Amino acid sequence: MKTIILVRYEEIFLKGLNKPMFESRLMKNIRKVLYGLGAVTVSRSQSRIYVEPNDDNYPIDEAITRLTKVFGIASVSPVKKLETHKDTIYEEAIKMTKEILTRHRYETFKVETKRADKTFPLKSMELSSQLGAVLLKAIPQLKVDVHEPDFIVRVEIRENTYIYTEKIPSVRGLPVGSNGKATLLISGGIDSPVAGWMVAKRGVKLEGVHFYSYPYTSEKAKEKVIRLTKILSQYNLGMKLHIIPFTEIQLAINQYCPQEYLTIIMRRFMMKIAERIALENGSLGLITGEAIGQVASQTLESLLVTDNAVTLPVYRPCIGMDKSEVVEISRKIEAYETSILPYEDCCTVFVAKHPVTKPDLQKTIDYESVLNIEELIQNAIDNDEVMLIE
Ligand code: ATP
Ligand code: MG
Repeated sequence: MKTIILVRYEEIFLKGLNKPMFESRLMKNIRKVLYGLGAVTVSRSQSRIYVEPNDDNYPIDEAITRLTKVFGIASVSPVKKLETHKDTIYEEAIKMTKEILTRHRYETFKVETKRADKTFPLKSMELSSQLGAVLLKAIPQLKVDVHEPDFIVRVEIRENTYIYTEKIPSVRGLPVGSNGKATLLISGGIDSPVAGWMVAKRGVKLEGVHFYSYPYTSEKAKEKVIRLTKILSQYNLGMKLHIIPFTEIQLAINQYCPQEYLTIIMRRFMMKIAERIALENGSLGLITGEAIGQVASQTLESLLVTDNAVTLPVYRPCIGMDKSEVVEISRKIEAYETSILPYEDCCTVFVAKHPVTKPDLQKTIDYESVLNIEELIQNAIDNDEVMLIE
């Protein structure tokens, strides 16, 4: 009796030509995320994927935890694979039911059978009702509820028989890498990791860029961003992070540009540098965690001025979200506790008392033109520290 993992994906949007590409990408990503846990065979049959360990001691729970972070997977189930024989099925179903009752306070159940192998003598309904009776006898405190059971014992009779009681939801979305690449401007805050996660969910591979103002921001602030990238990396199957020194640029803006335009000019520099890195790594867009009206640099006027600095499209998946909605996702992806660690970000080091909320594009361009923009950008990029975070 072997435990294997059944992986379900949804294919509503994936009919036709894209389906094989999607499926092979998903299988590749599954193999990658399970790497190191032990040898497995990953196979596909009838729009499902099966992960079958070669060894009985395979860490199924850890594998399932990892699979619930793989975009493209709708749900997973630990499944017992057995030979199709009535007594074996009953015996295994009793064992599984007893096991699930040690972990959940369930009172009601039903049995659902799918019989793809028509040589099995009992029809689906017959097996369900017989097995239901067997379970009731073995575990007298249980009751059958066919409408709203606490759990379902599922039996599938195919080339083998598969039995399972649990269906663990995963993150859905599309497999990372099936929709190109984009570069995420990642700060140590709450919004940008969420923004990156949301775009990655649609199958986009991320590369991160972080601006760092040493010695004004500490080593701890940098470590925090590395930790956040590590969290994203679990969903993203490894992620490159560029750490770009930003102090020289900030000092220059601070010295030569009007105070109220400090932040907006700084934001334009960030975008320009991120765009250079994006074009180098084959990204088709930039991602930020901006939301309309969140701060002075995120009004529509400010976003217009920021956008104007680059030609690549800028994706802002948090644009219409309230902070509480962003926090909800941040918690879900397990980034929140790290995001709220109290280390300063480079944007909080040099701040104007009264930042402009409706910057004028032409004025912004005029103000920044006193700087040696090209040299400053090149200098920063030359000192890029690149890490592969896995
Ligand atoms: P966060 O989105 O992390 O909560 P924030 O709310 O502090 O950032 P801003 O400082 O205005 O907002 O930043 C807006 C966006 O600009 C961020 O979502 C992020 O994409 C990008 N950004 C800000 N600071 C940095 C940084 N130090 N390095 C890289 N990107 C940054
Ligand atoms: Mg923000």
